[in-house]
This record gives sequence, C-alpha cells and structure tokens, in this order.
Amino acid sequence: MERVGAGTIRTTCPYCGVGCGVLMEPDGKGGARVKGDPEHPANYGRLCSKGSALAETLGLQGRLLSPQVDGQDTDWDSALDLVASRFARTVAEHGPDSVAFYVSGQLLTEDYYVANKLMKGFIGSANIDTNSRLCMASTVAGHKRAFGTDTVPGTFEDLEEADLIVLVGSNLAWCHPVLYQRILAARKKRGPRLVVIDPRRTASCDGADLHLPVKPGSDVALFNRLFVEIYEGGALDQAFLSHTTGFDATLAAAYADDVTQTGLDEATIRAFCGLWLGTEKVVTIFSQGVNQSSSGSDKVNAILNCHLATGRIGKPGCGPFSVTGQPNAMGGREVGGLANMLACHLDLEDAAHRAAVRDFWQAPVIADQAGLKAVDMFRAVGDGRIRALWIIHTNPAVSMPDADRVRAAIAGCDFVVVSDITGATDTARLADVLLPAAAWAEKEGTVTNSDRIISRQRAVLPIPGQARPDWDILAEVGRRMGWGAAFDYANAAEIFREYAALSGIAGGFGRDFDISGLKDLSDSGYAALQPTRWPVTDGRAGGRFFADGRFFTPDGKGRMLPVSWKPPAAKTGKRYPYRLNTGRIRDQWHTMTRTALSPRLSAHLAEPFVEIHPADALQLGVRPADLVALDSPAGQAILRARITDTVQPGELFAPMHWTGENAPSARIDALVSPVTDPVSGQPESKAAVVAARRF
Ligand code: SF4
Repeated sequence: MERVGAGTIRTTCPYCGVGCGVLMEPDGKGGARVKGDPEHPANYGRLCSKGSALAETLGLQGRLLSPQVDGQDTDWDSALDLVASRFARTVAEHGPDSVAFYVSGQLLTEDYYVANKLMKGFIGSANIDTNSRLCMASTVAGHKRAFGTDTVPGTFEDLEEADLIVLVGSNLAWCHPVLYQRILAARKKRGPRLVVIDPRRTASCDGADLHLPVKPGSDVALFNRLFVEIYEGGALDQAFLSHTTGFDATLAAAYADDVTQTGLDEATIRAFCGLWLGTEKVVTIFSQGVNQSSSGSDKVNAILNCHLATGRIGKPGCGPFSVTGQPNAMGGREVGGLANMLACHLDLEDAAHRAAVRDFWQAPVIADQAGLKAVDMFRAVGDGRIRALWIIHTNPAVSMPDADRVRAAIAGCDFVVVSDITGATDTARLADVLLPAAAWAEKEGTVTNSDRIISRQRAVLPIPGQARPDWDILAEVGRRMGWGAAFDYANAAEIFREYAALSGIAGGFGRDFDISGLKDLSDSGYAALQPTRWPVTDGRAGGRFFADGRFFTPDGKGRMLPVSWKPPAAKTGKRYPYRLNTGRIRDQWHTMTRTALSPRLSAHLAEPFVEIHPADALQLGVRPADLVALDSPAGQAILRARITDTVQPGELFAPMHWTGENAPSARIDALVSPVTDPVSGQPESKAAVVAARRF
C-alpha cells in the first residue's frame, strides 16, 4: 500500500472513466475520510459529487458476506466445488459454448485478466462479454476499422490545449464531471470554444458557444457534411493524407449524404463547420450518444474520418477522444474481456496471435471464433443454448435492453452464479449460487482510465465477512476445474506481471498495447506503482499515437471509411409516436447499488422521471409531477413527469438507474428493444419508440 502521509492511502475512484485519484484516510471504525489526490494526472485534486461522497458508501449495509447456495449460507469449499463441477459437467455434456461469463467494467484489470484466461484459454470458448458492450463497443469497432487497433490517440492534456472542443453525444458535465471542470478551467484561462452536439440541451450546454440539437441518430450526416466542407474549404492535410487510405470513397459517400436528416438549420451547420475549419487544434469528445446506436460504429468512423483528413490527430490539442463510462472499461478492452477480442489487443481472428497467447498461457485450447456478444448471449441463455452462466458485478436483469425478457432468461437458466458485493439486486435474486466479492476500497489491483493511464486501486479497509477478491474466486474455480498451475496466483501483483509479459508478445506483433516495461515489477514496486500511461516499454512511456502517420493496419495506413446516415432501427408512428432517450443523472451510478447509500447523492433527483416537452405535455394532458405510463414494443414503465424544453418536441428522456429493488415500475431498459449495431453488437439504448399517456 502506498501511503502519502500518516494513515493516508492513494487509490482511484470506482465510478467513471476519468479515473480520478483519491486519498483515503481510514478512521479505524470501518469508514474513511476521502479527498481528491492533488498529484493524480486525471484530476489534480478535483472530485465530483459522486467521488466526494465515496465515504458515505463504505458501510456494510446490504453487503453479501458469505457464499450462498439456493438462498442458504454455505462455506466457500462447497460453493466453489459446485460452481466448478457444474461448469465442467456442462462443458463435457454440451460443449464449451454452452457456458458463458457476463462480466463488468467494474472489475479490476487483474480480475478481468483471469476471467478472460479461464474462458478463452481453458474452457475454450469466447463466451465472455461485459457490460462495457453497452458502453463503448462501437468505439472499439470504429477504432479498429480506422487504426487497426483499439487505440485512444490522445491524452487528457489535449482537452486543455485545444482551441475548439466538440462534445458529441456526451453530457460531460454530469457523466465525466472532473473532465468537464478541466475544460471549464481551460476556457477561463485560454478561452477555447465549446460546441455541444446533442438532441437534448444538457448541463454541458450551459456556457457553450454553440449547441446543435441534432435529431437522434443523425450524427453521421452532420460529420459527412463537415467532411465535404473540409474538402471544399481547403482544410485537407495533404501530407498526412499520404498516410491514409479511403479518401475518395469517403468523400463520395459524404457528398451523397443528406444533412437535412439532422434537423438543423443551415446557419447552425455552417457555424459549426466554420469553427471546425477555422481552428487547427480541435478535440472531438464522444460518448454514449454516439456509441449506443444501431449505427454507432459508423458514427465513430464519421468523426475519425474528419480528424484523419485534416491530420488533426495525435498532436497536442488535436484528436478524436472517446470517453468511457466505467472505471475500467479500458482495462477490460486491454485484457480482451470482450467476446470478439483476444488479450492485449491481439486479434481473435489471427491464427498466429491465437497460437502465441495459447503458448504463453500453456493452455490446452484457445477459442478460435468470436463468442456471443451481450444481447446475443442473453438470447442464448433464453433459448437454452447457454446452460451455465456466471455474472460478475453487473445487474443485467435491469440494465440490459429488453430487461423483462433478460430477467426471464436468467430465471430459466439451468445454473446461474452471481459474484457481487450485495445479494440485493434484481439479478442476484435469480442466482443459484451467490459469491461474496470484495468491494472497492477492499481489494488490490489496477484500472485504466479513458486517457490510457493505469492507476492502482488499493485496499484501504479490511475485507468483511467471507468476501474475497474476484481474481481469487475465479482462480479457485480454475484450479478446481483441473488447471492448477495456470491459476496458481499468490496475489494481484503476480497476475499483473504475467499480463505485462503477455503484452510484450503483443508488442512483438506490432500491436499498440505493450506494457512489457512493467513485467518485472516487484511486489513492492507494484504496491507503489504511480499512475502510468501506456504504452510502457523499455524504449517508450506514454505519449500520443499517430502524429507520425504510422497506424496498426496491415499497410500501416490510417483508414478513412465511407459511411452514410441510417435512421434508428425503430420507427416512430401512430402507435409509438415518441422517441425515448435514456441516460445518466449527475449523482447516481449504474443501478445505484453504491450511490443510493449516500443521502446526499439521493437528494439530487430523488425519484425516477421522464422529461417531456411542454407542447407534448399539453397534448397529452400531462401536468408537472403527474405519473406517465410509457409503453414500447418491449415493455412498460411508469414515471413522474418533468416538463421541460431541454428535450425536443416528440422526444423524451428518462434516466436508467432505478431498478426492481427500489422502483419496480421504473426499469427503463424494459422499454428498450434489443436492436444492435451490426458491427459492434452495441445496443441502441437511446432511440426506443414509445407511447405515452397520463397514468
Ligand atoms: Fe469519480 Fe468520475 Fe467523479 Fe472523477 S469524475 S470523481 S472518476 S465519478
């Protein structure tokens, strides 16, 4: 443990992908004082409301403290033997693809690494997917199509060096508040412009120079228009273009697209394009409004196309920048914790990559085809193709689209294991076996933030009851399934060293993710590890990618991709006239298992609601605070009306946090149909169609 002053421990906030450094001072009574770490490069001492309230969420209220089988407390040996034997028997009888892990961006990298190794290298299936599929899979797909690897080119410092910051589908002020504060501070100091592209007028629009309230799903058409303006306005970087391919086809597709689909007036479009063309240092930040779409991957590539064409990438103050929702979505991507990835950004489709990972792990097999992505995984649970499912630190019975059907699928599955810090979630209540996991502030490991910075999470409090770290639980099951040597880890540091050594093999294949410079860290070196941006090799530490024009594609060139606007999959009409957007609120996190413990956070917006434009409210006869019933092709929800012109007429917004545990009628993902992006498999969570009526 690294202590900064007497009794103070450095760790990392468990909420969003900003990855703020936190100083914790245990009070000896199970609690701790919390403040921002002034030396952490993500936040330099700042914390948002959620981070500041961490101390209020440390109690043991609702904690799962012993293993349970069929609702009865049991001992670890019995529970683990049961999990190992049921998974082994299911694989023996029905094949490796009859089992699956559904994991989470809440896992630490070491936990994720062991889960991925167990499933892909030993069970022999790629049926491991993560709730990060719901968060940024479209960005992964877009990055890989353009760069050859899932690489975030820039750094957080670029947001402070840019002269124009464009937020696309991102309410940064609420969802990544410390990053937004860094932008506000830079605006005060240097005055960079801020543009927000979002169907809603969110808190991020306060003080923005320009807000473009695009129609849901129309971002591709807008960025295609920008691409045309870049060409006609002479803003192409001819030297950089020689490091790219696909320009002519991309331009043709851009010309053929129809910017009127954005619903924006010509003056607003011109103002946006004028700012972009007239500013050399542009950062485009994008998030769930881009990713959670049936054309999410195309939206990402439409943005990347503009940065590649202008060479505004990998240079100070320039670049496309994906911000991740979860504390370790990036770490999960890096260890290959998605059904279509291999560890360390190696490719599952590449036989040489597969063989190298198998040999490194000394594994009996290696998955040789992509596994089921989240939505398809739960379909397979529902129709019996998956017969044993292990869900770790996530609540798919609430958070998956078509949540009612997913809940029924889990309930009907032959064998369900849930590892979590609490047994009081909609999903945990469906488990055959419940395994008590150590919580944030109790376990050791690393996370990677949106900025590629690897930070330590450190144990500040003792692990309560019989709870155990996730890597330890997973390794125990691996050992009991017969692979003792491969899962014989003494601590998280040992796993990290193995992972760093494997990344050196990835580096040998010319991949971006290489932290082999950390492979010889001693236990004490791991304990004291400072925030470190990857790559970390003997010859390189941190920094930006691609300014030199070298990409990770087979020909080394960046790829521009022709893309065209496509409408959201579900069409509004007479039966379902409204478009429903879902998202986060400022002071809650995911399905509230942790943030709801803080009275201060719960006071911000205390109950579930739906935002309705005044004109729609008038037509529906809905007054402020009335209850409103929403019906979609997938399900129903009943919510309190908030009448506001921050949403457009015909569009609604509702938060995603409330669950069957605390608001049974407000499970908003019960309304979302399981439509996905065909490339990334990411669900379209922001464009459901619904009918609305006063309840
Ligand atoms: Fe935590 Fe994100 Fe807030 Fe930072 S911005 S304190 S990482 S929730």
